[in-house]
Parts: sequence; structure tokens; C-alpha cells
Amino acid sequence: MIESLLIANRGEIARRIIRTARRLGIRTVATYSDADATMPFVREADDAVRIGPAPARDSYLRQNRILEAARQTGVQAIHPGYGFLSENADFAEAVIRTGLIWVGAPPSAIRAMGLKDAAKQRMIAANVPVTPGYFGEDQDPDRLRREADTIGYPVLIKAVAGGGGKGMRRVDAAADFSTGLESCRREAAASFGDDRVLIEKYILSPRHIEVQVFGDIHGNVVHLFERDCSLQRRHQKVVEEAPAPGMDEATRKAVCTAAVQVARAVDYVGAGTVEFIADVSGGLCADRIWFMEMNTRLQVEHPVTEAITGQDLVEWQIRVASGEPVPRRQEELAIDGWAMEVRLYAENPATGFLPSIGCLEHLRIPEGVRIDSGVEQGDEITSHYDPMIAKLISHAPGRQQAARMLAGVAAGVEVWPVHTNAAFLARTLNHPDFLSGAIDTGFIERHLMDLMPSTEPDERVLQAAASALLGAVAQEPWTTLTGFRMNAEASRQVNIEVAGRPYIVNLDQPARGSGSVIKDIVFIDGEAWPFGSRRADHAGGGQNLTDGSIIAPMPGTVIAVSVRQGDRVLRGQPLVILEAMKMEQALNAPFDGTVAELRASPGAQVTEGVLLARIEGED
Ligand code: ADP
Repeated sequence: MIESLLIANRGEIARRIIRTARRLGIRTVATYSDADATMPFVREADDAVRIGPAPARDSYLRQNRILEAARQTGVQAIHPGYGFLSENADFAEAVIRTGLIWVGAPPSAIRAMGLKDAAKQRMIAANVPVTPGYFGEDQDPDRLRREADTIGYPVLIKAVAGGGGKGMRRVDAAADFSTGLESCRREAAASFGDDRVLIEKYILSPRHIEVQVFGDIHGNVVHLFERDCSLQRRHQKVVEEAPAPGMDEATRKAVCTAAVQVARAVDYVGAGTVEFIADVSGGLCADRIWFMEMNTRLQVEHPVTEAITGQDLVEWQIRVASGEPVPRRQEELAIDGWAMEVRLYAENPATGFLPSIGCLEHLRIPEGVRIDSGVEQGDEITSHYDPMIAKLISHAPGRQQAARMLAGVAAGVEVWPVHTNAAFLARTLNHPDFLSGAIDTGFIERHLMDLMPSTEPDERVLQAAASALLGAVAQEPWTTLTGFRMNAEASRQVNIEVAGRPYIVNLDQPARGSGSVIKDIVFIDGEAWPFGSRRADHAGGGQNLTDGSIIAPMPGTVIAVSVRQGDRVLRGQPLVILEAMKMEQALNAPFDGTVAELRASPGAQVTEGVLLARIEGED
């Protein structure tokens, strides 16, 4: 087996690889950018090499620099993790040419699966069921429209080079086809440098089902059963589980066999995932599950498969890359219980899930489930990389137990001052329709109102904050009250401010809750409520939105300013457009009024919390 390994990746997956490598006695070398110099994965590796400045294109994507680091440190192999260079066939080839072992898919398989249309044509030839559609080379708009008409609406236009949920347009009627095609092509050209598209039948009640496969150089291919990743927001996975709810043995056999067929068709070696789309309008059945694409790498959600099979997939990758056969035969693999994973993100549901950048001054995740994380308290979530804080993975005998266990952990997450999706995750996992298994890829969008965190503190939050404020007079300011339950001596009115808004709290009933109060923040149900005392003459909430201050919710670039100082504006009118993390966000007037102050100018770089404009009310 290989004895030393360089990890061409960062964060959570780098740590995950180090964990297994250490257990196997393999020396590890981390590579890191300037932004990551103090991150846990750099400390935990046996050796670490700086590869460049923060932007990924100057560091984690710099192929020559990574190869140079491998040469310097004398490692035998390179593990690319996922993302970055993991599905870059040219890099895989360069690694192999240098005489190093590539702990990834063969370049030929990466290429075969790299373009969606070619991959689909190849799978049709291998007798794998593929979503009905047009995967041809002719890209003439008239031809594409005729094909769409034949397939029947709604259709989905997809960039052949697409990925990460980008470059897809749903078109519901022939009249909208040209507009959909044009905008899909624009996005495809901008994001992937390739504007070719394919057209598929749009599945109305789709579920995303994927099968973990593993191949070796001796020609063995096994599967490790399926995962269900139907809970998505904007085509990005939010909850992943294994096995898939409602999957009977016959259907499982059909889909897993098809996945093995796919892997064999491209002489697959290593860890791969074959993704299928299922039309569940009439339940999950074998003849309504179609090949979508193959991911030629380890997946973010691999831990749920590890949990139900009891296998370490990173160990499998290392063994197979070393030339060993896949560690288990098909008949030695079985499903044990149910596993579920959620991705805890530094993002703010209230701003349309924009990343929330900053220092994790307080970070606590309750114990009881597997936690795969790249950061610790005190670390920074930067705008350079994916803002994931951790993956939380539960494993229990049944689905409901796995869901409730995970919901409990998500609800107990405490993070400050960065915003997270913890409350959103807890609500999703506790939703009756989710618990009953009534899921498809539209679930989150359909239930979005139920899943959004509260915008107002409830009575428990107010009571806890008020009690803590009274108590803090006598105690030290770092009051920690876990599982608070308090009795005020007599009925008292307390003037407080929670999340920047004033409240008068009647402290007359004992407050009960399973949250905690740390310093001046109430943590409850995955949400964080900062509070403070409010003097009677307090004028109002400082720099919050209700006083008319327009604050940058995160670091970014001002790309447009649509008002001038002195302009009259109406509530909801866009004032400033901010671009952050490649997304545009409009900042709107909170009420009717006049632009009293305007500090934003187009092109300006702004940091989080900066005042961009201030609106003064009419009265
Ligand atoms: P990407 O490579 O960007 O991840 P995929 O082809 O894997 O793109 O599709 C991503 C998601 O888009 C799927 O998980 C599914 O939710 C949705 N999707 C893809 N194809 C269809 C389809 N034909 N009908 C309905 N939804 C689809």
C-alpha cells in the first residue's frame, strides 16, 4: 500500500482524508493557501506546503505548483478530494505522467463522463435507461426547438458541460423555448466556456437517487447501495440519506445493477457515484428511474454510505489506488439501519441564503452524531471558498430515529456572529411530510415558508434574555445558563432589546426552554438572538434595518446604485445592488422616505456591516 499522500484540497475533506491515512500509517502532506495557513487540516497533516494566495485559481487549482509540492515532499500519491481538481482529466494525467499515484478516477473515465451529452449517448449504447431527451450534436436553435416539441413540455435545457446545479432552464411551453435557450446558453458560456446544450423531459415529481460504486484495476465493480439526495435548494443538496425511502428490494436491485453497468461501460476504477432521476408521481418504481450522470470522485455525502455499510470509503480509495482489489465482494455488503446527513452552512436564510462571512467566535455542535468539519471555534469563514461549517451525520436503526436525532443536533447548534442554516435544517428534518417520506426535489421550495427561521423572538427567547439581564446584575457578564428555567421573585417589567428591536417583557412566569444563554446571546432551536438592556430614552435600534440604515450584509462589490442623495423612495424600491460570492443582491428601502445619506458608489468594495445608505422616514 502507498506510504505517503499529498492532499490537493482543503477543509473538511482534507481532514477526512488525513484521519483515514493516519489510521493506515500513511504520511500526509497538506497543501494550503494563505487564507488557510492556520486551519486545522494544515496542523493535522504530517507536513504542509503553501501553494499560493487565497483565490482558488492561484492556489488549489494551480496544477504545477501542486505537482511541485509533491516532488519537494517526496510523496507517492495525490488525493484530490472533491471539487477543485478532482474531476480534471488533464491534471490526473499529469499526476500519472510524473510517476505518482492518482487516488481518483482514470482520466479516460473522467473524460467519458465529463460532457453530459456524450455520457448519455454512451450509456444508451450500454443499455442503461436514460431520461428521454435530445443529446445530439446539432445545436441549431430550430432543430433544438423541434426536438423539444417532440419530447413534449415541460422540458429542461441543460448545458452539456454544466455542473453544480448551474446552466439549467425549465421551459413550460413552446412559446418560451427561445428565451430559455438563449439564457441557458449565455450562462453556460459564461460559467463553463461551452454553450452547447441538451434537452431532457422535465420530470415533474423527481427524486434524486444515486448509487455509490467502486471499481478496481482487476476488473471488479461493486456497489454500496443508494443514497437519496432529493432535498435540494436551487439544485444544491441540503439533506442526504441512505437508503432511499420507499425503495423496495426489486427496485434497489434494478438501479444498483444499472449503476454497476455504467461503471463497467467506462472501465471504472476507484470511488464513483452514478446519479439517477426517478419520476415518483406514481411511487418509486424500477421502470421510472433514469441515468442522469456519473460523478467521477468521492462525494460530499459519502458518510451516509459509510454509516450504513460500516466501510471507510477513503480507505477503499487508497487500497484500490495502491493496486489492491476492492476490499469487499458484493455479497459481503449489506445495509445496516438508516443514515442521514445535513450540511451546516455559514449562510443567512433571511438574505436568500447568502453566505455569511466572518469569524466563528462561538461554535458549538452538540455531540451524539458524526461531525465532519474543517473549522473550529475561532476560525474564519472566508469568501474565497465554500462556506460550509460542518456535515452532521446521524445513524440509527430506522429513518424517523435518524431524522429526529439529527434534528435535535441541528437545533442545538450554537454559532455566533456568523449566521447559519441550522434552524432551517432542524425545521426541515422535523417537517411531518419529510418524516413520512413524502419527498421530491421540490420539497424545500414548496415548504419554504414553514422552513424559514423566525424573524421575531418568541416568548421563550424574551423570557430567557430578560431573566439573564436581571441575573447578570448580580453575576458575572459571562452567564451561561444551559437548559434555563428561572423564577423571578415578583412580576417585573424589563425593557430589553433583542436582535436590535425593543421589547417590554413581563417577567412573571418561569421561563422554560432547551436553549442556552451565553454572554449576551440566546441560542435556541438553531437560532441566535443577541440581546441587551434598553434604557427608557433609547432612540431605536442602532444600525439595524428598521432605522433606515442600509447595511452591507456581507463583504462584496457595489455593482449599481439606483438612487441619488435626496431622492424620494418607496418601500421595497431597490437602492443598491451588491455582488457577493458571484451572486447579486438588491438592498431595498425599508419604508417610504428620502435618501438622507448615500455612501455607496458603483465599483466600491465593501466589508460586512458597512453603512451604504440611510433612508429617513416621512414624518
Ligand atoms: P449538475 O451536474 O449541475 O448537478 P444534474 O444533471 O446532476 O446537474 O442535475 C441536478 C439536479 O437538477 C438534479 O438533482 C435534479 O434535482 C434536477 N434535474 C436534473 N434533470 C432533471 C429533469 N430532467 N427533470 C427534473 N429535474 C431535473
